[in-house]
Amino acid sequence: MTDKPTIAIAGAGIGGLTAAVALKKAGLTATLYEQAPELGEVGAGLTITPNATRILDGLGLDAAMAAMADATPHVGALDWKTGERVEYTPRGADVYLKAYGAVTRHVHRADLHDALMAALQPRANQIHTAHQLQTVKQSAGGIELGFTNGQTAQCDVLIGCDGIKSAVRDALFPTEPPRFTGYVAWRAVVERKHAPRVNLDPHFASYVADGKMFGRYPLRHGNVINCVAMAKRDSAGDESWTARDDVNNVLKEFEGWHRDVIDIIKAIPADGCFRWSLHTRKALDSWVDGRVTLLGDAAHPMTPFLGMGAALAIEDAAVLGRCFGKYGPDWDAALAAYQAARLERGNAIFARSISQGERLFGTGASKHHRSPGFGLDDLYRYDALSVDI
Ligand SMILES: Cc1cc2nc3c(=O)[nH]c(=O)nc-3n(C[C@H](O)[C@H](O)[C@H](O)COP(=O)(O)OP(=O)(O)OC[C@H]3O[C@@H](n4cnc5c(N)ncnc54)[C@H](O)[C@@H]3O)c2cc1C
Repeated sequence: MTDKPTIAIAGAGIGGLTAAVALKKAGLTATLYEQAPELGEVGAGLTITPNATRILDGLGLDAAMAAMADATPHVGALDWKTGERVEYTPRGADVYLKAYGAVTRHVHRADLHDALMAALQPRANQIHTAHQLQTVKQSAGGIELGFTNGQTAQCDVLIGCDGIKSAVRDALFPTEPPRFTGYVAWRAVVERKHAPRVNLDPHFASYVADGKMFGRYPLRHGNVINCVAMAKRDSAGDESWTARDDVNNVLKEFEGWHRDVIDIIKAIPADGCFRWSLHTRKALDSWVDGRVTLLGDAAHPMTPFLGMGAALAIEDAAVLGRCFGKYGPDWDAALAAYQAARLERGNAIFARSISQGERLFGTGASKHHRSPGFGLDDLYRYDALSVDI
């Protein structure tokens, strides 16, 4: 057993970067391999709920997070046609801190990615872009990684943070191809000045009609508005899972909805409307195979209906870092402890994200609609920084 295991991370998204920062806190330098030619994140917003904020604060990102956004002051559900309040929940720092010990913030994904990079302060050659992992060969002595660019690399331990289409999962775990969930999502960020009359109280608002949903919240201190629109579909179609779409298609889909919804959609830049065919995979019974483990969407490919996929990846990363901090060079014990602490919660929240989708999009959904976060108090209280490992 080596003094300090060499750790490779596949995927430098939110999960992979947070894992690298958490491992750094445990005294380990992980090497990251990212398929994209450049580091970065899609232009979209992210709800960072208290269970994740607490971790990011603990990893030293507290000032950066506070600079990105204030605690979300209120959340609500609005009628899809009239815009009247169906439900309204005051939040804000006081309420969150009293209830959960940490706040919810709405942040831009790219800003969080930048803050994680600043916390990591990567060494030279710690991050390799344009490295798409293709093969994973394990032996008693270590792991050999093969990339589509023809390069290879060696490591003692591999952490698959490579998202729903995880090559690590496909290589080593009993899995099946991703399955279309029956929902598509459009995401965009619009300039506030292009949708000036939109009422941003509540801060996070969701509008639901049977089979459709529209959510919006301001980012970057109100200078931009993030929006996500979702609808049911019989099939994913032939198109790639993620693609740009014509804004007029979204307008057609939400014709007759409240004026604020229409104003926001009309403000989407022509080249800034992104469409996702939402996919998922089955839960796994194990996330560890020898020297390899999975983290984030690679382990539990969350649907976005709870708005907690990134938060769950951040939780995984924090616990993984603590396990390596505790078990040091004994990577076997560290991976076992990580799985023991995380598998049940990860799979349970993953299942809950699917049932939340059924609740949101079922018949009569608009009548029973509640603001985001409703009924999730138990999830918000989880403390990855102190949970038993
Ligand atoms: C419409 C929508 C809205 C959402 N809203 C929220 C929200 O508000 N809050 C929230 O917490 N979550 C939200 N989510 C979920 C969240 O985006 C994901 O759960 C989260 O990004 C998972 O992080 P990850 O790091 O595990 O995976 P990813 O973000 O998918 O990152 C994987 C990384 O691995 C790289 N990669 C992939 N394959 C390879 C390979 N073979 N080799 C090397 N690199 C590879 C990718 O390029 C990427 O950088 C939303 C999702 C959607 C679709």
